[in-house]
Amino acid sequence: MEQGHLIPTYARQPVAFSHGEGCWLWDTAGRRYLDALGGIAVNTLGHAHPALTAALTAQAGRVIHLSNLYRIPEQEALADKLCAAAGMDAVFFGNSGAEANEAAIKLARLHGHHKGIDLPAIVVMDGAFHGRTLASLAATANPKAKQGFEPMPDGFVRVPFNDVGAVRQLAERTDIAAILVEPIQGEGGVRVPDPGYLRQLAEICDRQDWLMMVDEVQSGIGRTGRWFAHQHDDIRPDVMSLAKGLGGGVPIGACVVAGRARSLFGPGSHGSTFGGNPLSSAAGLAVMDSIEADGLLHNAAARGAQLIDGLRTALAGCEGVADIRGAGLMLGIELDRPCGELVHAAREAGLLINVAAERTIRLLPPLVLSDAEAADLMDRLVPLIQDFLNKPSKPGS
Ligand SMILES: *Cc1c(COP(=O)(O)O)cnc(C)c1O
Repeated sequence: MEQGHLIPTYARQPVAFSHGEGCWLWDTAGRRYLDALGGIAVNTLGHAHPALTAALTAQAGRVIHLSNLYRIPEQEALADKLCAAAGMDAVFFGNSGAEANEAAIKLARLHGHHKGIDLPAIVVMDGAFHGRTLASLAATANPKAKQGFEPMPDGFVRVPFNDVGAVRQLAERTDIAAILVEPIQGEGGVRVPDPGYLRQLAEICDRQDWLMMVDEVQSGIGRTGRWFAHQHDDIRPDVMSLAKGLGGGVPIGACVVAGRARSLFGPGSHGSTFGGNPLSSAAGLAVMDSIEADGLLHNAAARGAQLIDGLRTALAGCEGVADIRGAGLMLGIELDRPCGELVHAAREAGLLINVAAERTIRLLPPLVLSDAEAADLMDRLVPLIQDFLNKPSKPGS
C-alpha cells in the first residue's frame, strides 16, 4: 500500500477493505471485521444493502447529475420526505455536514440582519464539533483544530454545553441571532445533555426571536431511535443540519428549515453545484424508505438498549469505566484515561470502533445491526476494555 501522494490529514490505520455486507467488512487479505463505526455514522443501512445498491444502479443508468438550474424530481421527493419526518417546511441540499452548517450560519446572519443587528452572533457550545470549513470551524470548540488557521470568522459566543443558565445570561445581549447546538455531541465524546435541555433552549429562542438551530449531522436519520435526536425533547427547531447518515455513504448534506427560517433564502442567496443531484437524492430516498420498510428506528432503539444494558452489566464494578451513555446506536463508553490504543486492539480482534475526545469509546454501528451482532460486538469489546484497564498504566501516558 502506498499513500505517499496523499496529503496526510488523517493518521490512517494500516488496513484497507475490499468489500462489505451488512455490518461486516472484509479487508484486502480476506479478514472479516464487525463494523461498529459505520464510516462514522454514515453507513445507516450497512454495506451493500440491496435496496440502496438497486436505487443507485437504476439512477446511474438514467441520469447522475443535472444542474440545480432545473427541477430535480428526486430532490423534491427527498425534501418532501425529510419535511414530513421532521415536521419542518423546506430543505436546501449540499454535500456535507460542514456545508449544511455553513447554510445554517448564513441563515442565522440573515435573520440577524432582518432584525436590524449589524454584526449578528451565534451561541455555540463547549465541546461542539460543526465541521472544518472556516465558519463551521469557528463554531467548533476544539482550539487545536483551529490552530494555524487564524483569523477565524467571528460572530460566535461560546457557553458550556448542557447549561441553560449560561444561555439565559446572554438574554440581555442585543447582537444574538441564533443558537447552534448538537442534540448529542458526537466528536465531543458522545455527550448527552439532560432531558429538557433542548426544550429550554427552544423556549429561550422563541422568547428572544433567535433561531433554534440543531446540528444533527451525526445524531440524525434514525441514529438515536427517532428520525432526529431533538424529537426526544419534543421540539421543532427552526433550522436543522443533516449529512452523514442521510445518503448511506453517498455524499449529501441538508439544511432543513421551518417557521422563522422558512423565507430567509431566496434565488441567488445560496447555492451548490452538486447539492441534491439525482444520484445523491436517490440515495437519500432509498435510505429513508429502507429505514421505514425495515423498522430501523425501532431496531436502533432496541439494539441501543441491548448494548447499554449489556455493557453496563458486563462492566459493572470495573474500575476505570467512568460512564456508559448514549441513545439508540450512538453510544459512548467513557474511561478514566486516554484509550486511543483500544482502536488497534479492537481491530486486531476483528472489531472496528473509534475513540472520541481521547477517552470515550464511540460506537456508531449501522442501524441494521442484529441482536446477535450486538451480542458479538460486546463479546469482542468487553474483554478488551477489561484487559486495557487492568494493565499497569505506562508512566507518562
Ligand atoms: C461530522 C460532523 C460534521 C461535519 O460533517 P462533514 O460531512 O465532515 O463536513 C458537522 N457536525 C457534526 C455534529 C458532525 O458529527
